[in-house]
Amino acid sequence: MRRQSRVINIGSVKVGGDNPVVVQSMTNTDTRDIQATIKQIQALEKAGCEIVRVAVVDEEAARAIAEIKKQISIPLVADIHFNYRLALKSVEAGADGLRINPGNIGDIKRVREVVKVCREKGIPIRIGVNAGSLEKGVLEKYGGITPQAMVESAMNSIKILEDMDFQDIKVSLKASSVNLTVEAYRLLADLVDYPLHLGITEAGTKDRGLIKSALGIGILLHEGIGDTIRVSLTSDPVDEVWAAYEILRSLELRNRGAELISCPTCGRCEIDLLKIAEEIDYRLRSIDKPLKVAVMGCVVNGPGEAKEADIGVAGGKGYGLLFKKGKIVKKVREEEMAAELMQHIYAMLDDNSCI
Ligand code: SF4
Repeated sequence: MRRQSRVINIGSVKVGGDNPVVVQSMTNTDTRDIQATIKQIQALEKAGCEIVRVAVVDEEAARAIAEIKKQISIPLVADIHFNYRLALKSVEAGADGLRINPGNIGDIKRVREVVKVCREKGIPIRIGVNAGSLEKGVLEKYGGITPQAMVESAMNSIKILEDMDFQDIKVSLKASSVNLTVEAYRLLADLVDYPLHLGITEAGTKDRGLIKSALGIGILLHEGIGDTIRVSLTSDPVDEVWAAYEILRSLELRNRGAELISCPTCGRCEIDLLKIAEEIDYRLRSIDKPLKVAVMGCVVNGPGEAKEADIGVAGGKGYGLLFKKGKIVKKVREEEMAAELMQHIYAMLDDNSCI
């Protein structure tokens, strides 16, 4: 059962309610470098990113949003810390959403100004609580970073906006600890109906970060909590998008791109399956249509084990058998297995026989 959240619009993308869990990422270019930022966002779009966030560090970065928006087709969220003027400038430049914590803006008059322009333009605000930057008072009250402290920080910001009758809100509660993050989201999910943006922050490099993110985001999504996700990795942001879809596919929430089923190999394997699987994995990443591909080490169990796959290969001694839906269709030499499989996949995609 999915938690019932209210729906907000970030540009053309609906977040919350029964809408699909939305995939987000954040650029790591200097936003003031307009061409580099556009190039990265276009690569993210190609990978399936549905909302992109950019850091707005000064007025030049805020102004750059106007130019960037002209050449991208997904909604853009301006990420701002403390400076309400940058929020106003970003809205003026065409941002589709703001990530700013009202509790950190300072004078209430400043918050009111930000809320006013957001209301006028229908722009939601994401309250992004980060375990690393909780307010002093909250930390003192709870004796450090706890799930309750994170939730209180979020509720303080939510209250500021609600007191201004502004409810176009999305909330995130990120920490680098999986347990802390999960507990904080669970608590908040029972208190408000705003859509929740999930993520484990500062999760780490590509492999380590993916494991942490898959656990934290996965536990919550499995419990029906979460309306949009970002897999934060110390890596190319395109990797974050790929990882997000892998998590969503694993939970059968979204089905974008090719799924790879491959065996761990054992003493029966007589080909270099690791090399073949790696090559196929790499080549499959550019496919956006749903397709199940199996790469198996032997013919004893291979095709049978992978009979749910649309297409696959199973190794023999120096050769492999190409199979479709568990049925063997052709014998190919080991060194040609990857290329031959991909040729058949492209042909299937052309005639839509995999979908
Ligand atoms: Fe071993 Fe064959 Fe199973 Fe791979 S498919 S793990 S090689 S038995």
